[in-house]
Amino acid sequence: MSEHDKIRELLALAAADALTSAEEKQVAQHVRSCIACSTELGAWRLIASELRRLPTPQPSSWLVQATLARAEAKLTEQAEHDWNGRVMIVFVAFAWLLTIASWPVFHFVSGRFGSLLEPQFSHTWIGFAAFTALGWLAGAVAAVMLAIRQRGERRLA
Ligand SMILES: [Zn+2]
Repeated sequence: MSEHDKIRELLALAAADALTSAEEKQVAQHVRSCIACSTELGAWRLIASELRRLPTPQPSSWLVQATLARAEAKLTEQAEHDWNGRVMIVFVAFAWLLTIASWPVFHFVSGRFGSLLEPQFSHTWIGFAAFTALGWLAGAVAAVMLAIRQRGERRLA
C-alpha cells in the first residue's frame, strides 16, 4: 500500500480529530505535497464541521415531564404500599393488645356484676369470641382513624 493510499484512509479520521499525534503528523506531512489528499481532507473537514453544527439530540421536554411523572407515581405507589403494610401491622398489634388487656377487666367486671344478669355468661367461649371481635373492631377503627390522620398530615407536608 502506497503512502498516498494509507493517508487517504486516515483523512476522514483526521477531519474528526480521531488520529494519534503520530498519524496526525504523517497526514499533515503528506497533504502538503499531495493535492488530491489535501482536497479530500478539506472536504472531510467541511463535513465534520457541518456535523458539529448539528444540534445534539435533546429529549423533548414532554418526554422528560412524562418520565418524571411516571417515576413520581411509582414512588408514591411504593410509599402507599409500605404505608398500608405498616397500618396493617399496627392494626393487628393494637387489636391483640386491646383484646388481651381488656379480657381480664371484662372477666372481672362481668364476673362481679354479670352474675346478676346471666350467671354463666362470663365463662362461655362465646363471650370471649364476642369480646375478641369487639377488640378487633376497636383496633380496626383506631387504625383507620390513625391512617386518615396520618394521610392528612402527609398531604399537608
Ligand atoms: Zn495523497
